[in-house]
Amino acid sequence: MNDPFPPSRWEGLFERLVGAVPFITLGVSLVISIASPDQPEGVWLTTLGLSALALAWVLCSHTLLPSRWRGRRGTTVAHFTGVLVTAALLSLHDPIFIIYTISGFFIASQFAPSKWTFAAVAATSAVLYGSSLDWSQATVQLIAFHVAIIAVQTLAIGGGAILSIRVEERQRKYRKALTDLEAALEENAGLHAQLMTQAREAGVLDERQRMAREIHDTLAQGLAGIIAQIQAAKRVAAKEPHLDLALSLARDSLAEARRSVDALSPGQLEDAHLPDALATMARSWAETSGVQLHIEITGERVPLSPAIEVTLFRVAQEALTNVAKHAAASRTGLTLSYTGAAVLLDVRDDGTGFDGREGKGFGLNSMRHRVRGVSGTLEIDSTPGEGTAVSISVPALQVGPR
Ligand code: ADP
Ligand code: CA
Repeated sequence: MNDPFPPSRWEGLFERLVGAVPFITLGVSLVISIASPDQPEGVWLTTLGLSALALAWVLCSHTLLPSRWRGRRGTTVAHFTGVLVTAALLSLHDPIFIIYTISGFFIASQFAPSKWTFAAVAATSAVLYGSSLDWSQATVQLIAFHVAIIAVQTLAIGGGAILSIRVEERQRKYRKALTDLEAALEENAGLHAQLMTQAREAGVLDERQRMAREIHDTLAQGLAGIIAQIQAAKRVAAKEPHLDLALSLARDSLAEARRSVDALSPGQLEDAHLPDALATMARSWAETSGVQLHIEITGERVPLSPAIEVTLFRVAQEALTNVAKHAAASRTGLTLSYTGAAVLLDVRDDGTGFDGREGKGFGLNSMRHRVRGVSGTLEIDSTPGEGTAVSISVPALQVGPR
């Protein structure tokens, strides 16, 4: 898996520098050594041989190593020890190679933040001063002086390396905390939107159900009662034309009231999921209107929150009603597409079309309101003589826990 918090640009640069330092310091030492005019005859051959050995070691123990081995404690110890041994050999042969020895400090930083860093820095310092010291003339004071320098250097360089690693770790933690926080805020915003929609849809559904119940319990029951009374009256005065009229009016009103109850609670949606409910509704529309209909449902179907499903159902219903009522179309297409983040509904006809400025009726307005109510968008594309396309896009909010 990828590291979600990769090292910063500076950390990456330092890593590359550590990899390059042995080559740079070895190259510089070698050039100075070979270019020195006071070299005894044939010494440069040994210099070249030892340098080749040092180069081969760096290549084999680090640069050419498969990356999964690099960075392991064992490999780093081997790499470091080899570099230090070849550096010591080279420095004893020609003191200018203490330049190469300096790369030991950089490799030592790879051990941080462990106590191995101090050991590696101390070993590098010891080789550095040990190889440049003229041991035949060394006094106790001189050796003590060098030991003191090595100790101070070890503390300073080793401590610095450890400290920088700690700072880097802390920075990584900060970066991770920041990213986590951003993700949490984003999730929070999403949850908030979902909660709002659910609250609104709960309110709207409750209100619709209350109205449907009210019409059913009062108006419809009353009309049914009136019909029963008129039927009883007709048995007494069978030829009374006013009674016939009253009966037919009451029956029409009852049918109307029932239609209102049906319209307020989309019964088909309660028994089936949106794609099936839409298909059933559209097919029965095609039968009654006599218009040819092509239905297409694409994408992975997911159960959406009731407010979204009711909106899609109602808009499709009104769009088809308009086709039958105004378009004089011969063919209609209805497409429902689940695209993941959104659900798209498209109702097209090849009918008369209309000028966009005319489209200000109650039906189109209520479509717009519904779609806006669930944070969706509605577009009507119509030109006189060229048919009409109603396209809506709503967020694919899924059923939340209730
Ligand atoms: P209503 O159906 O009550 O007239 P609408 O808001 O639903 O109100 O429609 C407004 C007007 O837009 C309609 O009167 C009609 O002129 C036009 N219209 C809507 N849909 C279509 C369509 N599919 N084809 C042709 N004209 C349409
Ligand atoms: Ca209409």
